Parts: sequence; C-alpha cells; structure tokens
Amino acid sequence: MTYDVLGGDGGTDRRAARNKKWAGAMVIEGTQVGNQNGGISRPADSAADAIAAQLARRILDGSLAMGDRLPPERSLAESFSASRGTVREALRSLSARGLVARRVGSGTFVIYEPDAGETDVSEITSPLELVEVRAAIEPQMARLAVRNATARDMAALERAVAEMEGVEDAESFSLADELFHLRLAEATHNPLIVEIYHRINHVRAHQQWDSIKNKILTPEQITAYNAEHRALLAALSRRDADRAVKVLSAHMDRARADLLASAS
Ligand SMILES: [Zn+2]
Repeated sequence: MTYDVLGGDGGTDRRAARNKKWAGAMVIEGTQVGNQNGGISRPADSAADAIAAQLARRILDGSLAMGDRLPPERSLAESFSASRGTVREALRSLSARGLVARRVGSGTFVIYEPDAGETDVSEITSPLELVEVRAAIEPQMARLAVRNATARDMAALERAVAEMEGVEDAESFSLADELFHLRLAEATHNPLIVEIYHRINHVRAHQQWDSIKNKILTPEQITAYNAEHRALLAALSRRDADRAVKVLSAHMDRARADLLASAS
C-alpha cells in the first residue's frame, strides 16, 4: 500500500488536469477574498493568503506543474477580483515557500515538482527511526483515544487484541499488531493521525523490519507485547489517559530496546 499525500498520480490524468487547469483555478472554493477578519489584520493579508492558498493547492496537487507559467498579474487580479498588489503579495508568499519563481521579463513559473521525491521513505527509514516516530506519536494517540474512542472503536480494538493473542509466529503477530495500532489511530478520530499512521505501517511493512522481526519476535516477546496491549485496552476502557500513555510509552520503549538488542 502506498500513500501519496500530494495526490499527484502523474501521467494522462495529470496532463488532462493541466489542460483545464485555469478553468477552475480562479474560483476560490469556499473562500471569500476580501476582508474577512476585519479589525486587527490588514484586509490585504487575508485576501493575499486566500489567493496564495488556492494557487498552492493547485501546485501541490499537480494541476499546475513544474515549469508552468502562471497568468500575468493583471489576469490573476481580474480572476480573483483582487488588486494587483494583493496578487503580488500572494505570489511573494508562494515564492517564499519555494513553489514559484519570478523571472524578470517572462513571468512567474512553478518550480515545485510533486513527483520529485521519488524515494519511497520506507526505503530510507531504519527500524529504529520508525520506532522513534512511533514513540513520538503513539502516546498522544492513546491520550486522544481515551477522549474520543466510541464503543465501536473499543470493540474493534478488542477484536484486534484477541486476534494478536491467537497467533504465534512473528509474521502473523506483526501484521495483527499493525492492525491494532492502526485501530488505535482511528480511535483518535483525527484524520491526519490516521493518514500518518497509514504511512507508518507502510514503512513498517518494508523489508528492513521484515528481515529482523523473526529475530526480535520470539514467543516470549510476543507474550510480553500482548500483555501490554491488554493493559492498554484496559486503560482505554477505564478512560484512564495517564495510564494509557504510560503503558504505550513502555510499549515503545520495549520495541526500541529489542531493536537495539538485536543489533548488538
Ligand atoms: Zn503493539
């Protein structure tokens, strides 16, 4: 499973999208250009931000591609019903973000290539680096799950734990464990966390981890990990955030320690 957060899938779809890119580019979806904030912030700021956001989205999703020239300021100003100063401000902010570059005499060009990052992050992330990311995010997942998990989430977590307890080999356990932690991510009801977690599992499925898991996941370790999953589930059921965070942090500490031990 691969996740392309930028959503650009290249090829014909993208070319088709490029051909009609200006057809829809000028419509500010759900955004009113103008003074939305009133009072404190300058009106031009919010209008420029809205235009910049709209253009940035087109660039990030690939409908405005590397090397494409943006329409002249005057046309952009007309399309967005904004002043040329506001458009210039928006272009400056896109330029500061490395999305466009202005070339004197020829216009403003897209300099961002969504497909440039061809390297699959799973190819270059070590198992230890993976655990470091999980240790950063999962305790917070536990805290949010305590707050947001529904009865349905709890049932899904319970099923995932039961499934893990029913397997003995490293391969099946690892898969069941991925599912359990994904269920925990889902129980936060934070879509970005779920998205990030899919990526974490994508990295985890990679061979660097694949090749050492048989060494790490002995029957004794599997039993120890499962006891922690049970303890986490119990803490979630009691809506005990501190305990849930503590159990999950210990779970990640064990994973890190096991990896280090396997390397020595
Ligand atoms: Zn686990």
